[in-house]
Amino acid sequence: MDMLIGGKYVTSEDRQDVKNPFNGEVIDTVPIAHLQTAQLAIDAANDAKESLTEMSAFKVSNKLYNVVEKLKEHKEEFAELLTREVGKPINESLVELDRSIETLKLAAEEAKRIYGESVPLDAGLNGKGFFAFTQRLPLGVVAAITPFNYPLNLTIHKIAPAISCKNTVIVKPPTEAPLTVMMFCELLNEEFPDGVVNTVTGYGSEVGDYLVTSPEVNKISFTGSVTTGLMISQKAGMKKVTLELGGNDPMIVLKDADIDKAVKGVINGAFLNAGQVCMGVKRIIIEEEIADEFAQKLVGETEKLVMGNPLDSKTTLGTLISENAARQVEETVNNAVEDGAEILIGGAREGAFYQATVIDKVTPCMDLVVNETFGPVAPIIRIDSVEEAIEVANDTEYGLQAGVFTESYSNAMKCAREVEAGTVFINKQSTFRTDNMPFGGFKNSGVGKEGIKYAVEEMTKTKLIGLNLR
Ligand code: NAP
Repeated sequence: MDMLIGGKYVTSEDRQDVKNPFNGEVIDTVPIAHLQTAQLAIDAANDAKESLTEMSAFKVSNKLYNVVEKLKEHKEEFAELLTREVGKPINESLVELDRSIETLKLAAEEAKRIYGESVPLDAGLNGKGFFAFTQRLPLGVVAAITPFNYPLNLTIHKIAPAISCKNTVIVKPPTEAPLTVMMFCELLNEEFPDGVVNTVTGYGSEVGDYLVTSPEVNKISFTGSVTTGLMISQKAGMKKVTLELGGNDPMIVLKDADIDKAVKGVINGAFLNAGQVCMGVKRIIIEEEIADEFAQKLVGETEKLVMGNPLDSKTTLGTLISENAARQVEETVNNAVEDGAEILIGGAREGAFYQATVIDKVTPCMDLVVNETFGPVAPIIRIDSVEEAIEVANDTEYGLQAGVFTESYSNAMKCAREVEAGTVFINKQSTFRTDNMPFGGFKNSGVGKEGIKYAVEEMTKTKLIGLNLR
């Protein structure tokens, strides 16, 4: 597949294979672009700005709805490609497609709601006789830099709101999984004027960095690791930046919890997408009194997962993004075992597969739970009180989402108040998101919010127009 810049396909002699992590097949190749090509995309996006700002909100909305229909028509094709490039089970890819369609729809709706407000200047000491109102204006060119784990929906979370408030976009998809995103941008380009959406493939450290530092890009919307996010925040200068970064989400399970509900939460939360989820359950913090029963039930449910060909609809656990990624998870788990943790089930790797693993007797200082482990691992940390649970939950640089399982209203509210995270769910694991909710973490998990309405706020600037009526 080639890049799309200013409505034209752009290629390069340097190319990179995109491989299926399940069987190593080369699915396609994409260009490895360099700085000149990134500049071409910046020029094309700047040239296209007027074509979008001149368009009525009604038309922008209708065009986004048309893309919704196109994506629906091609849903199965997209889902299959997604599974082949990232190794996630086909049923999970179909869910990602449904979410992507929903995200686009929300943006089509939001395109009609870019409101300003009237401002009572006469409430100010010297404002008598003035009237003012605000307008929300596009920033200009938005660079969307995105990760491999939910490549399509997470990229649509940037492109769709950007266009709905009339920004043009340059997308830098993840090198390991660029194809569904590129195919989606082709659909968008059929509907919108050339240059409204552009794709640049190549290495993040080269073309991504160029977009981040370019004065002709007005906003960086980034989803990815804390390491890259920190680098971007240091280099972006005065441009607006949204950073959706990693997570190390706790699941607090108190002794009065519904254990079956909590176990189900771990199965969905720690093993979804082979654990490669920013808001995945990465630490189970559980009261000692119920820990044995919980662990036994969790092992029983984990046994039922089916690891296999991700294109087979019976598969519930696919591969990680690469063998290398699976090796990293293997090493981290093995280190925890050397330090005294105990594997209850799983713990083995085969190529890019890593078994769903439940690991008990984990202590808060083990690397496994200090850093974000991006794999299908459910570490159990035993504690003795709600206060200790909150202390352990907060003892991390991250603060994306959290889940609390308890039947006690006061314990639920205590955790909701005191756990430092962008979202706290009660009786639901952290691995839950609707595409309209404000999503974004505290601490090193990020800056700014996504969720269409909230992303639009981050992708517009407010202008005040004041009228002297005296
Ligand atoms: P990553 O390595 O940070 O890469 C993300 C994107 O940044 C890729 O497109 C990458 O390009 C690009 N990039 C790399 N270096 C760059 C630089 N110096 N300047 C600009 N762009 C650069 O993250 P990942 O491994 O793909 O994704 C996993 C991480 O994302 C996890 O930490 C996960 O928790 C987090 N995540 C967060 C959310 C959220 O919403 N909070 C959602 C999903 C994932 P290349 O691919 O070419 O390197």
